[in-house]
Formats: sequence, C-alpha cells, structure tokens
Amino acid sequence: MSSINNNSANPVITELYQLVYISRITSTGLSGASTLNDIAKISVKNNKADDITGVLCYGNGYFFQCIEGSEQALTNLKNRLLLDDRHKYLQILEFSEIDKRRFTRWSMRSIILERWMTTDPKVKALMPFKPYSWSNEQGRQFLDFLQGYYEEQKNMGKVHIDDQPVKYSALGLTLSKVMGQHQAFFLIQSVLGALIVLTLLWFMLS
Ligand code: FAD
Repeated sequence: MSSINNNSANPVITELYQLVYISRITSTGLSGASTLNDIAKISVKNNKADDITGVLCYGNGYFFQCIEGSEQALTNLKNRLLLDDRHKYLQILEFSEIDKRRFTRWSMRSIILERWMTTDPKVKALMPFKPYSWSNEQGRQFLDFLQGYYEEQKNMGKVHIDDQPVKYSALGLTLSKVMGQHQAFFLIQSVLGALIVLTLLWFMLS
C-alpha cells in the first residue's frame, strides 16, 4: 500500500514495508539492569517520530521483532540494530512490501513471553521460545498469533500507542512493582532454576 506524505510542497509517495527478524541477547544486554525497558523507551520515542509500528518479543534469551513503516525508515533502523551490542546473530526472516500494517496503534509493544501466557495449542507448541529452530511457516504462525493478540486488545479498547512497554504474568507484574520489571523477570528465572537444581539434588540424595 502507498501512503502520501503531505509535509512538503512536493508530496512523496512511500510504500509500506515490514521487517521481521530474530536475534539473541548478549551478555551486555543481560548485564544491563533495565535493558528491555531502555529498548522499549527509545523505540517508542524513535518509532513514533519515524512512523514505525510493531512489536518486540523477548523470551528464553531471544528477540523476535516485527516492524512496519517506509522502506527507508526500516533500513535506517535495521542499520542501527546491526550496531547494537545488546543483541547478536540478527537474522532477517522477512523484509517485504505489505498492503497494510498489522500493529497500527503500537509504536512498539514489548512483550515478554512466558509459556503460561497463552492457551493456544499452536503457540504452546512453539514454546520454549527458540525462534532460530522455526520453519518459515512457524514464524508466520507466531506473527499471526501476535496480530491476534493485538486485535484482541484493540477490541477490548486496550490498545493505546503509549501502552506500558512490557507485559508480564501476574506474578511478574506483582514483583515488578516492588523491584523493577527487568529484575523481576530474571528473579523469576533464577528462582525456577534454583528449584530445578534442588529437585535434582533431592532425587540424587534420596
Ligand atoms: P545512541 O543512543 O546514540 O546509541 C549509540 C550506541 O549505543 C548504539 O549502538 C546503541 O545501540 C547503543 N546503546 C544505546 N543505548 C544503550 C544501552 N542502554 N546499553 C547498551 N548499548 C546502548 N530502536 C528503535 O528506534 N526502534 C526499535 O524498534 C528498536 N528495537 C530494538 C530491538 C532490539 C532487540 C534492540 C537490541 C534494540 C532496539 N532498538 C530500537 C534500539 C536501537 O538498536 C538503537 O539503540 C536506538 O535506535 C538508538 O540508536 P542511536 O544510534 O540513535 O542511539
């Protein structure tokens, strides 16, 4: 689909594109106290200015992002993403022209994926989140799932461009109020890890 930019005396017709990629968080990304919130904050600000919309998912050490906008704006963002040392192994799944945006009112919605967030069996089958092992079809299924979530939120009147950046499970949300969203996520991961180790020890010793 084309859109017309009327900001100048000579209107410029821009085609609409989508860029979908996956990447892996680095130790730099993991060591930052609020990496996910920092990314969400700068993304909302920049993307609004660049007329980019989309969604960023994080889970199990991986990112999955879909961004929509003009080819030039997406290329500029892709070049910044390639320089960002908070993630690595950026792999483009799709960079193509589209008819319309999937996430019209999300300048950048960040979602932390947790297995129990969805009851959809197709999506459950994609957990734990390992997007590098997905087929193209599974990547598309996941994108459709995200769009479904967006539509659901929209129908419930919950989609606002300035939505809170990171979505958590009820437990994560409670903890995040006490200690910050990013730390809460890693605390949960650590507690779960410790429980697994204790269970293994118990089995070995009994
Ligand atoms: P500057 O602030 O000048 O950044 C300079 C350099 O430092 C860049 O390499 C930058 O990536 C890096 N940097 C910035 N902040 C930090 C920090 N807190 N810790 C470590 N390094 C840092 N940006 C968008 O505008 N839109 C998006 O949708 C978007 N999605 C992202 C998704 C992921 C998974 C990641 C990792 C980053 C994303 N970013 C996004 C951020 C993007 O990579 C740039 O950092 C940002 O756009 C600012 O670029 P800059 O060069 O103007 O910023």
